[in-house]
Amino acid sequence: MARSTQYFDLRDALTQPSCPICRLVDSGVRQFVDGLFYESLTVVERRAEIREARGFCSAHSSVISGTTRVLGSAIIHRDVINDVLRGIPEANAPKGLFRQGVAAVTDAVVKAIKPRRECPLCEFERRQEKILLETLLRNLHEPELREAFERSAGLCLPHLQTVCGMRGIQDDNLRWLIETQRSILLNLRDQLDLFVHRYNGSYDFAQMGSEAEAPQRAVRTVSGRIVARRG
Ligand SMILES: [Zn+2]
Ligand SMILES: [Zn+2]
Repeated sequence: MARSTQYFDLRDALTQPSCPICRLVDSGVRQFVDGLFYESLTVVERRAEIREARGFCSAHSSVISGTTRVLGSAIIHRDVINDVLRGIPEANAPKGLFRQGVAAVTDAVVKAIKPRRECPLCEFERRQEKILLETLLRNLHEPELREAFERSAGLCLPHLQTVCGMRGIQDDNLRWLIETQRSILLNLRDQLDLFVHRYNGSYDFAQMGSEAEAPQRAVRTVSGRIVARRG
């Protein structure tokens, strides 16, 4: 079977110091946002998607900040605010909702603000995660990929959880992944123990080995990407 671009991306990402799926999804999102801001904002459907989603979720709103995106960001958010404004009743309108009482008004405001669809970047991330995890699991019988995975930081916990919810995966590959992931986590736990022991003993950071990086690795392993936790 021909190996896909995702296969080689995964193999390379496994040599880097964090969950390979998080890493690749992160760079995929950044590329997607670049495309969105440089080309797609003129596409009516893209603008409508963002408007209906009421912009991006708070985790992704940080990805779109940056001086080169100020104009695009202004256009997108003007769209959202303008659309929300259509649903907020005017207090002085002669036949307005205010005459029906405050509950009718607050209901209308909530309806105006509530997203009608998921954040487009969350949606993109979920698709990417699925493609990458399927590629990993489908190819995990390849010695090259197994060796790379054994030496890697493993999957973050949210992505490990996602894998366990996937269907149609070869039992052997899944069993191997969970077993290997378990030893990666055991190793990380032991490194944290060593770090705490040495830290309490006022051990010099400069004299520490790889355990000096363990707390940082642990945060990335436990939390993964914020939006990967959903569902
Ligand atoms: Zn991850
Ligand atoms: Zn999002």
